Amino acid sequence: MTADDRNALASETEARDVAEAARESEWSGPSFVRDLFLGRFRLDLIHPHPPADPDEERRAKPFLEKLRAFMEKVDSDEIDRTGHIPEELVQELREMGAFGIKIPREYGGLGLSQTSYIRAIEMITSKDGSITALLSAHQSIGVPQPLKLFGTEEQKKTYFPRLAKGAISAFALTEVDAGSDPANMRTTATPTEDGRHYILNGEKLWCTNGTRAELLVVMARTPDVVVKGKPRKQITAFIVETSTPGVEVVHRCHFMGLKALENGVIRFADVKVPRENVLWGEGKGLKLALITLNTGRLTLPASCAGGAKAMLKVSRTWASQRVQWGQPIGRHEAVAQMLARMAANTFAMEAIAELSSALAERGGYDIRLEAAIAKMYNTEAGWRIVDDALQIRGGRGYETAASLEARGEAPIPIERAMRDFRINLIFEGSSEIMRLFIAREAVDHHFRMAFDIVRPEASLKERLSALARSAPFYATWYPSRWIGTPKTFGEFGKLAKHLRFAERATRKLGRAIFHAMVRIGPKLERRQMVLFRAVDIGADLFAMAAACSRARMLDRQGNDEAVDLADLFCREARERIKANFRQFFGPNDKAMYSVAKDVLAGEHAWLEQGIVGIGADEIEPTKVEPKARTARQEAAGVGD
Ligand SMILES: Cc1cc2nc3c(=O)[nH]c(=O)nc-3n(C[C@H](O)[C@H](O)[C@H](O)COP(=O)(O)OP(=O)(O)OC[C@H]3O[C@@H](n4cnc5c(N)ncnc54)[C@H](O)[C@@H]3O)c2cc1C
Repeated sequence: MTADDRNALASETEARDVAEAARESEWSGPSFVRDLFLGRFRLDLIHPHPPADPDEERRAKPFLEKLRAFMEKVDSDEIDRTGHIPEELVQELREMGAFGIKIPREYGGLGLSQTSYIRAIEMITSKDGSITALLSAHQSIGVPQPLKLFGTEEQKKTYFPRLAKGAISAFALTEVDAGSDPANMRTTATPTEDGRHYILNGEKLWCTNGTRAELLVVMARTPDVVVKGKPRKQITAFIVETSTPGVEVVHRCHFMGLKALENGVIRFADVKVPRENVLWGEGKGLKLALITLNTGRLTLPASCAGGAKAMLKVSRTWASQRVQWGQPIGRHEAVAQMLARMAANTFAMEAIAELSSALAERGGYDIRLEAAIAKMYNTEAGWRIVDDALQIRGGRGYETAASLEARGEAPIPIERAMRDFRINLIFEGSSEIMRLFIAREAVDHHFRMAFDIVRPEASLKERLSALARSAPFYATWYPSRWIGTPKTFGEFGKLAKHLRFAERATRKLGRAIFHAMVRIGPKLERRQMVLFRAVDIGADLFAMAAACSRARMLDRQGNDEAVDLADLFCREARERIKANFRQFFGPNDKAMYSVAKDVLAGEHAWLEQGIVGIGADEIEPTKVEPKARTARQEAAGVGD
C-alpha cells in the first residue's frame, strides 16, 4: 500500500466514523422498506393507501386557490431570463402564507400538513422550478424544519413568527471540500471564554437562498471530544442572523438551470453567535442535518411528480396533434412507448411521493429509507420523463420558449424544464449517496448479527460468540425466506399477480443480500455495484407496492383507469427486478472496476487526443498513483 493509499484509507475511515456517529442507529418505528431488505413483504405497513383528509383539504383550499391564481400569472420565462424573482412576487407569496405553510398556527404559520405542503410544491414546480427552490430551501431544509424538530420553545417563539411572515432562511452545510462528505467541513465555531458565544469562521458553498436570506442554519465544527482515547469531530448547528457583523455573501453562484436561484458563497469572519442559537445541542449538528434532510427530502419527490405531470401534458397534446409520416407522432410505436411509460411512471411517482409524505405525517413510522428511495427514484424517473418529453417535441424541445414565441409558436419551455430539473439528482443527497445510505441500512441487520462470522480478522472467540448470537435468528429466518406462506392479494384483482411476484422477489432479495454478505464478507461495504443492484430491486419493489396500493384506493373511488397504469408500471418494474437479480453479482464488475482504475491512472489518456482543452488541465493533478506508462502511451506521448 502506498503512502497516498494509506492517507486515503485513513480519511475514508474517519469520514465513515463521523457519519456512523451521526447515523440514527435506532429505529423509531416500523419501516416497510427496512423489512423489504430483510426479505419480508409487509404490505400491511403501507396499505391501504392513506386517504385524503377532508378537514385538511378544506383548510388548505383557500391557500391552494390563491397559490394557483398566483402561479397562473407568474411569467416564469421572464424569471429565467432575468435570473431574478421580483420582490413584489416574493411579497405576494409572503402575504398568502407561502413561507409558513407547515409552521404551526400558534406561531403565525398556516399550520397545514405535509400533504398540503407537497400539493403546493407539486403545483409550483409544474411551472417554475426557481420558485419551488425558494420556498423549499426555506421550509424543507431551511430554519423552520430543524427548528420544528429540535428547537426549544424559546427558539420557536423567537423565530417561527418571523419565518412564517417570510423572513427567508437557508441551510448552510456544503463547503468546497465537504460535498457528499459533510463531515469534512472546515467552518469552525469556537466557544468564547465566558461560554456565552461562539465565534464562527469559514465559508459555505452553494447555499440556496443564501444571497437573500435573513436567517441561516449553519453547521460548523466545535472542539473535538475524546472518545475511547481518540479525538472525535464535533459538528454543531446554529441559527445565524445574516445581519450579524462578519457574515458576507462573497459570490452569487449561477447554474445551468434554476436561473433565479439566490444561491451563494457565504463567508463567516469572526461572527459572534449567542449560545442560545445552538440547535439541539453541541456535537449534534451533523445528526441534525441528516435528520432534517430525511424529512426535508420528501419535498423533491412531489416536486418531481409535478414536473412529470407538466411534461406528460405537453407530450400528450403534442404527440396527438403533430402529424409526420401520415400519422400523429404518438401513433408511431417508438413515441407511443414513451408516452405509455411516461404516464405509468408519473402515476407511480405520485404514489411514492404521496405515500411517503402521508407515512411521515401519520407518525410512529420510521420514514428515512422511504424518503431516500422516494428522492432517488422520483428524481431519476422524472429526469427520464423530461428527456422523453424533449424527444417527443423534437427540435421544438431544444428551442427556447422565447424563440418559439418570437416565430409564432406556443412558448412551451421544455428546454428550461430540462435545465431546471437536472440538479434534482445531485442536491439534498445525490443518487449515489442515497443508494449508499439505503444500502448501509439494507445490510445493517446482517452485519450486526453475523459480521464477526465472516470477518477474516475476527478471533475464534468473536466468531463463536457471533455464531451463538445469530444462530437462533437465522435458523428460522433463512428457511422462511425460501418457503413463505403465499398470499393471494385477492382484493387487488388484476394487480394481485404483481404483488405475488413482489412478495416472492422480496424473499429472494433478503436471501440475495445474505448470500452477498457470506460470499463477499466485510468487503461488501465497498462493493457498490452489487449493493446498488440490491437497492434498485428494493426501490422497484417499494414503487410497485405504492403504485398498487394507490391504484386500489382510486379503483374503489371509481377510477379503474389507475389500475391500467399501475399494471403497466409493475410489468416494467418486474423486468428491471429480474434483470438486476440475473446480474446481481455482476459478471462484469471486476472488468469495469479495473478499466476505471486504468482510466484514473491515465492509461487511456491516449483516447483524449485530437481535442481542445475545456479546463480539465486546471484541475490539480490527481492523487491516484499513475501506473508506468505503456509502450503505446510512450509512443503517443500521452499519459502524463
Ligand atoms: C444548485 C445547487 C443548490 C444547492 N443548495 C444547497 C444548499 O442549500 N445547502 C447546502 O448545504 N448545499 C447545497 N448544495 C450542495 C449539494 O448538496 C452538493 O452539491 C451535493 O451534496 C454533492 O456534493 P458535491 O457537489 O460536492 O459532489 P461530490 O461530493 O464531490 O461528489 C461528486 C460525485 O461523486 C459521487 N460520490 C461522492 N461520494 C461518493 C461515494 N462515497 N460513493 C459513490 N459516489 C460518491 C457523488 O454522488 C457525485 O456524483 C447545492 C448544490 C447545487 C449545485
